[in-house]
Amino acid sequence: MADLKSDLILFNELVEVLINEEAENPVAERIESNALYNTIDLSLNKSGMIDDAFKSLLREVLISTPKTATNLFFNQLFGGRQSKAILGDLLAVMLNNSMYTYKVAGPQVGIEQEIIRQSCNLIGYGAKSNGTFPTGGSMSNYMGLIMGRDAKDPACRLNGMTKPLIIYTSKECHYSNDKNASFAGIGRNNIRYIKVDTKGRMIPEDLEEQILKDIENGDIPTYVNATAGTTVLGAFDPIDKIADITEKYKIWLHVDGAYCGSVIFSDQYKHLVKGVERSNSFSYNAHKMLGTPLTCSIILVNDKKHLYNSFSNDADYLYQTDGDDFNLGKTSFQCGRRNDALKFWTLWKSVGTNGLKEIVEQQFELAEVALAYIRSNPDYTLYSFNDSISVCFNYKNIDPKTLCTALYKNQITVVGFGSFQEDTFIRLVTINANNEKEDILNFFAVLEDFVEKTPNLAKQEVLSV
Ligand SMILES: *Cc1c(COP(=O)(O)O)cnc(C)c1O
Repeated sequence: MADLKSDLILFNELVEVLINEEAENPVAERIESNALYNTIDLSLNKSGMIDDAFKSLLREVLISTPKTATNLFFNQLFGGRQSKAILGDLLAVMLNNSMYTYKVAGPQVGIEQEIIRQSCNLIGYGAKSNGTFPTGGSMSNYMGLIMGRDAKDPACRLNGMTKPLIIYTSKECHYSNDKNASFAGIGRNNIRYIKVDTKGRMIPEDLEEQILKDIENGDIPTYVNATAGTTVLGAFDPIDKIADITEKYKIWLHVDGAYCGSVIFSDQYKHLVKGVERSNSFSYNAHKMLGTPLTCSIILVNDKKHLYNSFSNDADYLYQTDGDDFNLGKTSFQCGRRNDALKFWTLWKSVGTNGLKEIVEQQFELAEVALAYIRSNPDYTLYSFNDSISVCFNYKNIDPKTLCTALYKNQITVVGFGSFQEDTFIRLVTINANNEKEDILNFFAVLEDFVEKTPNLAKQEVLSV
């Protein structure tokens, strides 16, 4: 107990160090990967490290770890901090429940179920709906796929796959779809990659044509993955039109909203997932647009019987009290399961649904600031579109890979690059809702200043047009 108290004091001290460091050096100094083990003492040894040395080592680790919450981090599909969510996550660590039973998780079960119930209401799923918190968006997609597989071929659970089941997704989908096809025993070669239009959205006519071809060949169309916010462009597949097709051919429709599914919280942007109530399953990551700490992924199912069909298993040693609605282990992939719900609940409870809406809309506003800046400046070429928080561009025709790497290695800003069809470009993700308009303009200012001071960059690495 004395240990815990002094460690919590140390925790506060270290957090102070981190916050000051973030203000002074928003981009951590990079340690070359080949120098890592010689730069910080990461070794584990027979004897333990004593207090002061331990403390200064922790400080060193904190300072040299990439900073994802600052106003110069635009590299990933998450960023920033929502403090009430952090509070919830710290409490979850202290409580250390496992979410499988009411006996062990108590009110935490209700916290998780309330988030699921409210989310189902928001997307228009009915009374039979439910859901769970998988370990992330990839796992949410996996659970969606398994339910789709079992719904089409129930014998599969007992006998393994005996018929060729076919999956449909766009070329722009998340790579977890490929891995999941192999894990599910369906096979990567049984994925049909449907063409996208010029804005990166799945073409429904192409989907139907492919389904008809497969039926003609005696294959079994089983599962369609539609993406709400593709990983590179942030494009939204047309769910309504895709649902017309999946309903007609009785195919499971999963909507992967890991990146941008949180638009369901915004009256202004939820039209981007119009038709989502017609899907069989829908997932979104609160650790992306809503800014909770990693990971916080939710999958919702239109009819909860599919969750039970695919994921429940009797276990007398575990399920000893209370009904199925309270024993969440019956609908999850894992046995022991971390409490990812509390951090989202503390955020939602404290800011209300209106607050979540503002968090989402702020990101689109920041994207508009970036778009307007790029459009008004002839040194930039734009590759992305409206209604997306992935703003894709190139500057002065400089090779984007070279520029991104140089910006990072020189501690200027952390941003990544992506490709769509023939083009490769810088992808600025305006997902950090702590940012203001000035932070976005500052990003362009530091980028331009860096290019100006690094003339070789533009000269040597011009894109071959
Ligand atoms: C991030 C992302 C995923 C994967 O989510 P993880 O939580 O990182 O596993 C899946 N689909 C899309 C569209 C994503 O952007």
